[in-house]
Amino acid sequence: MILVYIETAEGKAKNVGLEMINAAKALTDKVAAVVVGAADEAVKQAASYGADEVITVNYEGYNTDAYCYIFKALVEKYSPEAVFVGGTLDGKDFAPRLAAKLGAGCVTDVVGTKKEDGKVVYTCPVYGGTVLNDMVVESPVAVAIIRSGAFKKADPLDAAANVVAEEISVPAEELKTKIAETVKEISETVNLEEAEVIVSGGRGMGAAENFALLNELADLLGGVVGATRAPIESGWISRAHQIGQSGKIVAPKLYIACGISGATQHVSGMIGSDYIVAINKDEDAPIFDIANVGIVGNVLDVIPLMIEEIKKAKA
Ligand SMILES: Cc1cc2nc3c(=O)[nH]c(=O)nc-3n(C[C@H](O)[C@H](O)[C@H](O)COP(=O)(O)OP(=O)(O)OC[C@H]3O[C@@H](n4cnc5c(N)ncnc54)[C@H](O)[C@@H]3O)c2cc1C
Repeated sequence: MILVYIETAEGKAKNVGLEMINAAKALTDKVAAVVVGAADEAVKQAASYGADEVITVNYEGYNTDAYCYIFKALVEKYSPEAVFVGGTLDGKDFAPRLAAKLGAGCVTDVVGTKKEDGKVVYTCPVYGGTVLNDMVVESPVAVAIIRSGAFKKADPLDAAANVVAEEISVPAEELKTKIAETVKEISETVNLEEAEVIVSGGRGMGAAENFALLNELADLLGGVVGATRAPIESGWISRAHQIGQSGKIVAPKLYIACGISGATQHVSGMIGSDYIVAINKDEDAPIFDIANVGIVGNVLDVIPLMIEEIKKAKA
């Protein structure tokens, strides 16, 4: 059995949870999705995306210590071979601590899995994605932090959830931290990880005001704006938009890279995109090595043309 944590936002499952169900199904005979807190929609989603069972836990809100306690209790009760947690902020926060509490091996940033000699082999990129490590966990249970977008979701079926409600009360002494206040930052509105279309700008955009072109193109395509670290450091756009090794890891259906050279630290965060379009004035830019379509030209000429053509096509 593999336990798959289904993280939710406003009651709905985040994509990474549903992707992990599909990944886990290829490795084990039983996949139990875990939904913490009231989220009926997420329970239905977990079942329709292939979970054999959905375990619900009566705990509201997020707290690192509470999540460690809850998942430790579930591991002790169900003895799964692995716990899959998405590589979100919360996932990266609690999963390594859970592994420490369980005395379990922890693999992070997993982008591939396979079963060999009865053991799960986890593939994890290192050195900014230039090397792929294959790892096997020797402890009875593994805690695996899975990269968002690394696996595809199954096609949803009209399946009713087989729900097991677990009542777990977290003792007060377990909680070493307390959330005093939750401040909704503007960054939360940039949902890069879930976006299907991302229009990203690099240093080649030239100035903050030129990012308006990216906003317009992204709006037309129903997408969001991303960026490399260079324009963020120049103060053209906020850090919440950063994609790459020290930013967000994304896997949209369409990624349009505008004025981006293709440095490893950026590429490692967007290489999982289904279709990559790159616009760069330097025909030797490394971004063209990974692009499905490469346009050699000035972004300030090419993007307005794209906007015009898309508007015409939509009219
Ligand atoms: C530890 C570490 C972590 C890092 N983490 C990240 C990260 O998470 N994300 C990230 O992005 N970077 C990261 N970086 C930085 C990374 O190494 C690169 O410096 C950065 O990605 C480069 O951004 P860029 O492609 O926008 O700029 P550049 O490399 O300067 O490329 C600009 C490109 O724009 C093209 N260009 C210029 N003008 C035009 C024009 N008018 N029209 C069309 N094309 C034009 C140029 O030909 C060039 O190819 C990290 C670096 C380190 C050391």
